[in-house]
Amino acid sequence: MAKKCIGVREDSGEPCPRPASGDSDFCWVHKQQERDMKILYLQDDVYHCPDDGQKLLYVPRRKEHACRMCQGVLQSAKAMDQVVLESILALPEVIEEGLAVECPTCSTDSDLSDGEVPLSNFAAEWQLTVGGKYTFSTYYGVSKIGHCKVCGCTWFPGPPEFDAAGKKIRKLRRFEWTRRLALGGRGGFLGFGEGDRIFSKRWQSSLREERKSVEAMRCQHVDSNGKRCNKSKADEQKWKSKKTSDYCYRHRPN
Ligand SMILES: [Zn+2]
Ligand SMILES: [Zn+2]
Ligand SMILES: [Zn+2]
Ligand SMILES: [Zn+2]
Repeated sequence: MAKKCIGVREDSGEPCPRPASGDSDFCWVHKQQERDMKILYLQDDVYHCPDDGQKLLYVPRRKEHACRMCQGVLQSAKAMDQVVLESILALPEVIEEGLAVECPTCSTDSDLSDGEVPLSNFAAEWQLTVGGKYTFSTYYGVSKIGHCKVCGCTWFPGPPEFDAAGKKIRKLRRFEWTRRLALGGRGGFLGFGEGDRIFSKRWQSSLREERKSVEAMRCQHVDSNGKRCNKSKADEQKWKSKKTSDYCYRHRPN
């Protein structure tokens, strides 16, 4: 039986299904990956998603590891844009007792550290607009970006299920989240002015205000499972109530 190519797809990191050609470990398409040390050692350097434990795929074109399950992205210290990293490290740090997540790089490579290396987390505001010409949805939220002080890698988590307004985030195309938020260190935020970076103080504070205003529109009711009602308080205005309420019509206390 022919040996399988050990190369991966440049754009997605998926393993190549073709057989290797001749004496090479690669097929004819992936022959150029022969000199890429990262790919030669893929089998040895297996990183796992810090959020769901899935094996991360190395995406050669973007020089980063990505999780197929949650769309999270891991960027090494070397591949990371330094200006973007500096803005991330200036974001509010999130300290959560007992919820420390281990660095995906350090937990694999025992040369880097002995013992557990938790990621430091920074809260980043974001806005995401998904859709076409006529229908689109805009979502707001805050995500925790992880950074390892030992190896310098940065973990960008995938999109949450619901946004800050309680809206379910529609299914995104592969890499859409990363691309839209330019979380991979390419800076900028699509649709925003050139040079403006999503993690800059200016954008963070305007995003925070927008998020707070959509959050404030929501009914304050929380069910027994801890899930917040995602009806808008504005629905209640239709019922010509003179009193302002923090709840939707259904959850308004009498
Ligand atoms: Zn191949
Ligand atoms: Zn994941
Ligand atoms: Zn690390
Ligand atoms: Zn409600």
